[in-house]
Amino acid sequence: MKSSASLFSRGLLALLLAASSLALSAAPLRVLLIDGQNNHDWKSSSPWIKEVLESSGLFQVDVATTTPKGGDMSVFKPDLKPYRAVVSNYNGEPWSKEFQAAFTEYVRNGGGFVSVHAADNAFPDWQEYNEMIGVGGWNGRNEKSGPWLYWEEKIVRDTSPGVGGSHGKQHAFKMITREPAHPIMAGLPAEWMHSKDELYDRLRGPAKNITVLATAFADKAQNGTGRNEPLLMTLSFGGGRIFHTALGHNNGPDLAAQKCVGFIVTLQRGTEWAATGQVTQKVPADFPTSDKVSSR
Ligand code: ZN
Repeated sequence: MKSSASLFSRGLLALLLAASSLALSAAPLRVLLIDGQNNHDWKSSSPWIKEVLESSGLFQVDVATTTPKGGDMSVFKPDLKPYRAVVSNYNGEPWSKEFQAAFTEYVRNGGGFVSVHAADNAFPDWQEYNEMIGVGGWNGRNEKSGPWLYWEEKIVRDTSPGVGGSHGKQHAFKMITREPAHPIMAGLPAEWMHSKDELYDRLRGPAKNITVLATAFADKAQNGTGRNEPLLMTLSFGGGRIFHTALGHNNGPDLAAQKCVGFIVTLQRGTEWAATGQVTQKVPADFPTSDKVSSR
């Protein structure tokens, strides 16, 4: 009697363990999206970014919104512990020293970080942040911020004097994969057309522990630099993985650049990689080709 009861309870325990591990593997990756200030229309793009990530079926996205410009930033200190990655749609006033330190420790200790478009304009004076994004632009950045990073058969670090961050006219442009074996890029076309967007150029920064995944040629005919500019990058900072997409300009609710399937898919894959170090998502059939843009 005793032994059959113990067999039964052991069986029940095994069943419970199996069920909980199943639930664990199916649990969404929790992601925190930070917004609240930006020189872009973050009130339109944040719900879209959340939708893009959650539509993959992998993520559950919470949003943390800072105080508006001029507000008391000391009250903004979301707890990062529950999250596998933080996605920034923020370009504004400095966070409090306390939250900057918490964010730095979060990434250093293995938290994922994803920087979207103008998030790489933020915090020119925050050294660790600039190490996380690798390169950034505007807000006084220049050669003192670090080299201008571009691609000429390999990464070039140009230390000559000049501004950090500029862009030519918005246009559709071709993205060229530079690291086809990287999990984020594996299976994507070697070249694909990105919908009309700003092509950030002359980005500068510490550029340490950086991998350039894809570049685009900033044509002088579009007021660009005549260089292959890095637009998709990964970095490591301590134990943390960072995905940096310079794509995704938006100044209104049409969100054309962010509706490009190339933007969508690289953001989904880059966020999964930042959160877990792997990419399990398939490349969708509507991904742009080398001569055709594709939007959703
Ligand atoms: Zn922009």
